[in-house]
Amino acid sequence: MTKSTKPVFRFAPSPNGRLHLGHAYSALLNDALARRLGGRFLLRIEDIDIARCRPEYEAGIVEDLTWLGLSWEEPVRRQSEHFADYRPAFQRLKGRGLVYPCFCSRKRIAERVEAIEAQSGEAWPRDPDGAPLYPGICKGLPGGGAEGRIRAGDAHAWRIDSDEVRRLHPGPYAFTRFSLTGDEEVVAADPRRWGDAVIVRKDVPTSYHLSVVVDDALQGVTHVVRGQDLEAATDLHVLLQVLLGLDTPLYHHHGLILDPGGDKLAKSRRSEALCALRTRGVTAAEVRRRLGFYPQPTPST
Ligand code: GLU
Repeated sequence: MTKSTKPVFRFAPSPNGRLHLGHAYSALLNDALARRLGGRFLLRIEDIDIARCRPEYEAGIVEDLTWLGLSWEEPVRRQSEHFADYRPAFQRLKGRGLVYPCFCSRKRIAERVEAIEAQSGEAWPRDPDGAPLYPGICKGLPGGGAEGRIRAGDAHAWRIDSDEVRRLHPGPYAFTRFSLTGDEEVVAADPRRWGDAVIVRKDVPTSYHLSVVVDDALQGVTHVVRGQDLEAATDLHVLLQVLLGLDTPLYHHHGLILDPGGDKLAKSRRSEALCALRTRGVTAAEVRRRLGFYPQPTPST
């Protein structure tokens, strides 16, 4: 792990669309806090989803952040170039029996959950993203069935075995949250609400959760500043940090920028992109002001 005496902040977008005002706020806040604390500011490209991420979106990220007046340390870490770095972390979890292979499709899981709900008449629990908790279909497949299927080349993900985790690491789990005024508070984390979450996906040899935790540690990130939409994910990240013996950074989850209708901005909702604002003649200084950041002072002589 790269140890740094300076605080290290990062902005970690996924190049699967153009950035909107919410991203601008997150990036500007990370930069402002890094400046305030005399720290470093990193840009990390989270492009493990090779099917959805595109080089032109990455170029767009660089263009938009540069337009906003931001700069960052080079080289930029691009996750798709570091799949090998996530393997030892996965192997460590596997070696301790904390993960198991899962061959299920989303459809299979949905059908099983539907059947359970129909039988019990009760709603099956959902994770914080609204997906049903994994009902354990592939957990403990009998008679070495899993190894045979893996050898036969059956596509599979790897899930955290939350029962085994609970047995070996009952917790409690916690992390330190910091506010913009510098207050710190220890808050409880509840990774169990994610159930047997996917730690290595079927299509790529990692997952958002695994790579973000490994990269934050490898890059010596001390302060994670990201939107409230990722607050619940922190519980799982804290769990992975404990299981992998990694330091837990401090966390700040900022409020989300809403559109005039009160909805969260999202690439999937086609929220107005920064590049579209720019085309309409909005200046970077106006964006900064609107988001509460004053125009970058020009370097003094
Ligand atoms: N790549 C994630 C996103 O674009 C952010 C990850 C993070 O900040 O931890 O939503």
